[in-house]
Amino acid sequence: MSQQLILVLNCGSSSLKGAVLDNASGDVLLSCLGEKLGLPDAYITFKFNGEKNKVQLSSNPNHTGAVEALMEELKKHGFDSSIAAIGHRVVSGGETYSESILIDEAVIAGIEKCIPLAPLHNPANLLGIRAAQEIFKGLPNVAVFDTAFHQTMPEHAYMYAVPQELYKQHGLRRYGFHGTSYRYVADEAARFLGKDKNSLRMVIAHLGNGASISAIAEGVSKDTSMGLTPLEGLVMGTRSGDIDPAVFGFLADNAGLSVSEATDLLNKKSGLLGLSGLSSDCRAIEEGALEGHPGAKLALEVFVYRLAKYVGSMAVAAGGLDVLAFTGGIGENSDIIRSKVLDYVSFLGFTEDKEANTKARFGNAGVITTADSKAIAVVIPTNEELMIAQDTARLSGL
Ligand code: ADP
Repeated sequence: MSQQLILVLNCGSSSLKGAVLDNASGDVLLSCLGEKLGLPDAYITFKFNGEKNKVQLSSNPNHTGAVEALMEELKKHGFDSSIAAIGHRVVSGGETYSESILIDEAVIAGIEKCIPLAPLHNPANLLGIRAAQEIFKGLPNVAVFDTAFHQTMPEHAYMYAVPQELYKQHGLRRYGFHGTSYRYVADEAARFLGKDKNSLRMVIAHLGNGASISAIAEGVSKDTSMGLTPLEGLVMGTRSGDIDPAVFGFLADNAGLSVSEATDLLNKKSGLLGLSGLSSDCRAIEEGALEGHPGAKLALEVFVYRLAKYVGSMAVAAGGLDVLAFTGGIGENSDIIRSKVLDYVSFLGFTEDKEANTKARFGNAGVITTADSKAIAVVIPTNEELMIAQDTARLSGL
């Protein structure tokens, strides 16, 4: 049988991330990043065999133009006729979608209906879907939702303590995000440890620029730190995470900020960046802290403390804690943060293996607790593209 390739698309409002995976091996053969989409100087960068190639999108500087340029690049490598299906990351499926689904017009309408829950992301995801349908005519398209995995959360975990009409009329509740990553890491952690996923009480910390943490027991999500939007929960690169909701009134009264200005401040100027006054990037924060930068030291301590507190609360949600897994750029690489977290939660039965922790980085999985540690901590590199590609292949009947 000839090679079958899956195209995975992840569209933001001004960006498009794409990857072409071999359906048999799961290997990424080509990847791309379109940036500044919607602006006249939009471009797309392709990565193939370790080499980068930048293409200006002058005639059509939008999502469709980016997908057209991707098609041209695929033709160049003889991949175009092997693309068998396209998988799309869709941020919010609300309560409608608890699993990935083959896209038809009804699903497009369903994703449109969820726009109020992800006003920046779902419209961009729809642009990617429309562009793919137009340019890759006749191929199956599959939607894989960031929220889907968390649809198993019990009511007491997803409800806010506000008047119920707001939930009934507007869908105001906690949804959670990073679901595709959690699904992948939960499977992979169990596989790596040689244990049955359904009998493990797991807490997984997905720590990237956006960061969240989830409780997984009986193989499903029981709770997660992000809520109605990705602002709730952990300290992130530029997001505050949990904050007293009265801060909106406080900022209006004392700093003259409108609701949208305060929202912007909490989403884009807070977190590691706001606390440190230095950077949103964890590496820069760690380097700054080592050099004695007071803001960086504070940012690191607040980040770690909030994270450790959440490990405790997610252990409640999971009904105990057998395995703590770290993933995402920070979780996979920062032995400093992992070590500080394990120190805080040592009372839950974790004994760090310092050498193993220092070694676990650069995309390698590894146990970072000692052999006699009562609970296990492990580093598991995430692979959302692979999960999307696998769902896409399965739902497309490949
Ligand atoms: P995104 O959420 O955009 O996918 P990533 O998962 O790529 O983000 O994570 C990006 C974060 O990972 C950044 O804060 C970056 O500084 C951090 N990171 C990457 N490598 C290291 C490292 N060696 N040590 C500490 N942090 C790292």
